[in-house]
Amino acid sequence: MANRGWDEFEIGAMLRSFDGKIDDIAGTAQIDRAYSSSSSYTASVADWRLVKPVFNKDYCIDCQFCWIYCPDVSIISRDKKMIGVDMDHCKGCGICVEVCPTNPKSLLMFPEQAEEEAEIASWPAKDEEK
Ligand code: SF4
Ligand code: SF4
Repeated sequence: MANRGWDEFEIGAMLRSFDGKIDDIAGTAQIDRAYSSSSSYTASVADWRLVKPVFNKDYCIDCQFCWIYCPDVSIISRDKKMIGVDMDHCKGCGICVEVCPTNPKSLLMFPEQAEEEAEIASWPAKDEEK
């Protein structure tokens, strides 16, 4: 399959992660899985991104929601600790921000060109109405 831009897909199109069926995904080493050429494991979708998630560890409770819901496996977590975002694969969909439960959120979306340190320095305060 030739590489396609995000705006060349039908609405609701689904990209398959694997070629063929895998019976024991948990028991199959990553290197032995038959990832499809359109999966984000083999092809980066990072150049689709117009906005990016910025992570502020000061508010993170390591709930792992962002890790579970990210459709591109772009949340980096080690020993159940949220570490950051794999910007080589993140496509900027914002799902991680939607599911983050903290107040204020520990992940927020900013324009691709934003300076991470400046955005963290001006992070919104706690919303007392929530
Ligand atoms: S914006 Fe968040 S949920 Fe979407 S791909 Fe990037 S890290 Fe994953
Ligand atoms: S969803 Fe938010 S609070 Fe939970 S691990 Fe991710 S960044 Fe941290």
